[in-house]
Amino acid sequence: MNKEIYDIAIIGCGPAGLSAAINASIRRKSIVLLGGELCTPKLQKSPLVSNYLGLPEIDGRTLRDKFLRHTRSLDIPILQEKVESVDRSEGDIFSLQTKESEYQARTIIITTGVTVAELVEGEREFIGKGVSYCATCDGPLFAGQQVAVLAFTNEGIEDANFLADICSKVYFISGGGLVPNGLKEVVEVIENQKVEAITGNEFVSEIKIGDRALAVNGVFIYRETYMPAQLISRLNLTDNHINVDRLFQTNVKGVFAAGDCTGKPYQLAKAVGEGQVAALSAVQYLDH
Ligand SMILES: Cc1cc2nc3c(=O)[nH]c(=O)nc-3n(C[C@H](O)[C@H](O)[C@H](O)COP(=O)(O)OP(=O)(O)OC[C@H]3O[C@@H](n4cnc5c(N)ncnc54)[C@H](O)[C@@H]3O)c2cc1C
Repeated sequence: MNKEIYDIAIIGCGPAGLSAAINASIRRKSIVLLGGELCTPKLQKSPLVSNYLGLPEIDGRTLRDKFLRHTRSLDIPILQEKVESVDRSEGDIFSLQTKESEYQARTIIITTGVTVAELVEGEREFIGKGVSYCATCDGPLFAGQQVAVLAFTNEGIEDANFLADICSKVYFISGGGLVPNGLKEVVEVIENQKVEAITGNEFVSEIKIGDRALAVNGVFIYRETYMPAQLISRLNLTDNHINVDRLFQTNVKGVFAAGDCTGKPYQLAKAVGEGQVAALSAVQYLDH
């Protein structure tokens, strides 16, 4: 565990997260900036950005490099670690768990973007009741039981292999064209099939894939972007967007959110602006 208690932890290093980071850094707050892929796969996919003020006709990759260069010029390190869960310990300090380490902070800014993948029917209903996004956190709860892993990223392959050591059966369903290389032999791979629904009564008991129904107690899901409810369960949401006020405060004291994760329109200038306001609000919260 990293012993430092940071003023602000920023989860996500897309445009909103980087904007929050540079503003918090200019206001001399200590920050830890945690992200998945460096400054968002979205920008890299954009061949032409024509609506960003002052930089007409720029391609997404060049704009991304400019954002990163600006961030690095302020000596802000970006840790390429994904936050898997957030807890609040005694004394109002937040603990952020990644696969690699644990970080502590007085405030949090969530800038995780939105997931473009459709949620599976039943997914939201069974979060914490069989649906999980982190085998390291929840895998041991399913020791000796049957589970399914639905993976859109390589992280799912790693975690399926871990689950194979402790569960009686692991089904691996690859999504979004993910090639399921490197899985242990005991893992049963299901390719090119759509997951129709996750069902059960109080807890998950089945996953429906095509015309098959597999009996499972747990379903582990891996996407590039985490759902906000995965990180902090008490967050108020509307249509899976985090509810914020004009200061980009959420309903949880000390937690702010900015960018696509707060709602439409999904646009760069909005993300950058919201990241700035969220950072200044976090600074104000810390100073008072
Ligand atoms: C193809 C394409 C073209 C586009 N073109 C334009 C355009 O021309 N103009 C325009 O204004 N907008 C455009 N957009 C929209 C724009 O890219 C988004 O609005 C913007 O990237 C949102 O920024 P964000 O920081 O909120 O989220 P994102 O860019 O989605 O960044 C979120 C980051 O958080 C990380 N993350 C997620 N979960 C975690 C976690 N648990 N722990 C750590 N990190 C995490 C992700 O890996 C990602 O790097 C386009 C989008 C696409 C997909």
